[in-house]
Amino acid sequence: MNDTDGIKDKVREAGFTCLLCGACCSGADNEVMVSPPEIEVLAEATGMSMDEIVEPYPEWIRQDGFTFTFGWVLQRGEDGNCIFLKNNRCRVYRSRPHICRTYPFMLDGEDLIISECPGCETCGTTNDAGQITEDLLRRRDAENTELEKTEKQYQKHSIITGSTIVFDSSGAHEYSIPPKKS
Ligand code: SF4
Ligand code: SF4
Repeated sequence: MNDTDGIKDKVREAGFTCLLCGACCSGADNEVMVSPPEIEVLAEATGMSMDEIVEPYPEWIRQDGFTFTFGWVLQRGEDGNCIFLKNNRCRVYRSRPHICRTYPFMLDGEDLIISECPGCETCGTTNDAGQITEDLLRRRDAENTELEKTEKQYQKHSIITGSTIVFDSSGAHEYSIPPKKS
């Protein structure tokens, strides 16, 4: 059995069916990290600007007079829900990011991690285990590429004292709104 088959078997055994409860699209703990290519896809699908779609990943690092973070997360409305959630449905379903496509699953190397989700163990076998596995492998590749590129951007840019920067795979972005939390 190759690694892909092993992952697919574990996904199948999770007995997952999405109950469309919307729990993974709401709540402060469910931050959805998105890469620059994913932001572009969402911007194209919605006509929204990047500033309307994302905000910086909220774990700010303060060091030697400057403040920075890595990457972006989808914005939430005042109700705490993802801005794309409406009546428990995703308004950008076809363009949704990797994390959303693969929830509640993720890969840590070859290990399958399963997050809390009421849709697990609701049926004998996960129906679309093959598709979910493909999405998981695509997500892992994309995340590894993003990480590698973001590290290069971090190493190559010097940070100006007093500035607030978001590093991502496309560069170092000065951010004008003061960070809310660290
Ligand atoms: S993936 Fe899980 S938490 Fe998210 S909507 Fe489906 S059942 Fe609910
Ligand atoms: S983009 Fe769609 S699936 Fe992802 S968190 Fe928002 S509403 Fe949920």
